[in-house]
Amino acid sequence: MKITILTTFPEMFTPLHTSMLGRAEKAGILDIREVDIRAYSKNKHHNTDDAPFGGGAGMVMLAQPIVDAIRDVQGDRKVRRIYLSPRGETLTQKKAEQLAKEDELILLCGHYEGVDQRAIDLCIDEEISIGDYVLTGGELGALVIIDAVARLIPGVLGSGESPLDESFSSGLLEYPQYTRPREFEGREVPEVLLSGNHAQIQRWRREQALAITLARRPELLESMEFGKKERAYIESLAAVEEKFLEADGTNE
Ligand code: SAM
Repeated sequence: MKITILTTFPEMFTPLHTSMLGRAEKAGILDIREVDIRAYSKNKHHNTDDAPFGGGAGMVMLAQPIVDAIRDVQGDRKVRRIYLSPRGETLTQKKAEQLAKEDELILLCGHYEGVDQRAIDLCIDEEISIGDYVLTGGELGALVIIDAVARLIPGVLGSGESPLDESFSSGLLEYPQYTRPREFEGREVPEVLLSGNHAQIQRWRREQALAITLARRPELLESMEFGKKERAYIESLAAVEEKFLEADGTNE
């Protein structure tokens, strides 16, 4: 996959070229480039922003350097063009899975008060937010998207790792993980994980994932389908939780 980041702060992407993503770049699985929007400014001082029409605080990024940069990077290829923006659709695992199917992405990072709307209207396919908060620039958002998307591309993760079993991939949050030693500060690893019985281990992990999801993100369960047995299990967990809340007085 090829990803081009349009930014006025290319140096913010140094960490991207290390660790797993760096290895994937060396292996030719990923091609990630930063393009400095400033290089496209036709302005005498290579400015990339100006005061907003209509007044108000802050500066707005100029349409011209952004539109020229996107058109130059894109050429005549079909490329999904994304603007990082708090107004966008919130990034989810599902969205990351969709983006991982693309051959090429362009990520536009805004700054100041944002980007002249005409650049968005002319050259952007979708706006994506990484959460309901405001950052100073789109660079951290671009890093988040690239990390979430790249690890879904075959060959990026090590051979022993799989993104399939993780939080959100199955629709559930992940079960608890343990490694050596078997006992740490008086806390034992759950017996079932030492049993060697894979069916039991699978069942335990699934039940743990259901319990954690019900406790922390119950809304995730609403859009999922369950068999009779699992539905009964979830209902029994919910009943225990309800009882606990009643006893606690939290439910009144
Ligand atoms: N004035 C804008 C607003 O109220 O929606 C906020 C602009 S913000 C200070 C500057 C830039 O940071 C944005 O253009 C965008 O690229 C990026 N940004 C800020 N928050 C973000 C978020 N939650 N997700 C993705 N990008 C974000």
